[in-house]
Amino acid sequence: MSSTYRLLLATGNPGKVAEMESLLAHLPVDLVTPADLDVSLNVTEDAETLRGNAHKKAAAYHNATGLPSLADDTGLEIDALDSRPGVHTARFAGPDATPQDNKRRTLEVMDGVDDRSARFRTVAAFVDEGGETHTFEGVCPGEITTEERGDGGFGYDPLFLPDGHSQTFAEMPADAKNAISHRKKALEQFAAFLSDMLSGA
Ligand code: IMP
Repeated sequence: MSSTYRLLLATGNPGKVAEMESLLAHLPVDLVTPADLDVSLNVTEDAETLRGNAHKKAAAYHNATGLPSLADDTGLEIDALDSRPGVHTARFAGPDATPQDNKRRTLEVMDGVDDRSARFRTVAAFVDEGGETHTFEGVCPGEITTEERGDGGFGYDPLFLPDGHSQTFAEMPADAKNAISHRKKALEQFAAFLSDMLSGA
């Protein structure tokens, strides 16, 4: 098995890069980021599904660099909102929304709502060296808190209490989030797939 297989983590989000590096550290591959290659792409995430957006991002980075590329698209599905914001999670508070805007909007629309059940869903898309796409999905169930809690993680983490835990994703250590998260569940399937692929299974 070659240790020089290079895999591009197709995201400019430092929070995602840190989690992906940690979750894939055991693989015999060189993980590279767009910053390592001095590549910065602005991919419009206008697909109707997480799968579509994940594919768009991975394909754009693969086309720009020629490297096998892995992207993820993640949505927050809130039961009381009929699974919204879903594919619109990054833009819940508007087209140019910041994470702070999105968290504020979430707390506003959930004000006084009793059923706070929700889940994060990640679809990871891997475009291999031949340009073929493979996708992997992970879900983490939980609930939306009534206020922000914690400084860790990124995005909506201070509002998400995973089922069976007393700390939000932003309160728990990074390793604890990485042990149970939607991204972990998607990437462990990807890691098994890549290991098989590299060993010729
Ligand atoms: P995207 O997958 O980069 O399009 O992200 C969609 C939205 O979900 C953005 O607002 C991210 O900040 C947020 N997001 C993605 N992954 C996570 C996570 O693991 N925890 C909390 N928020 C996340």
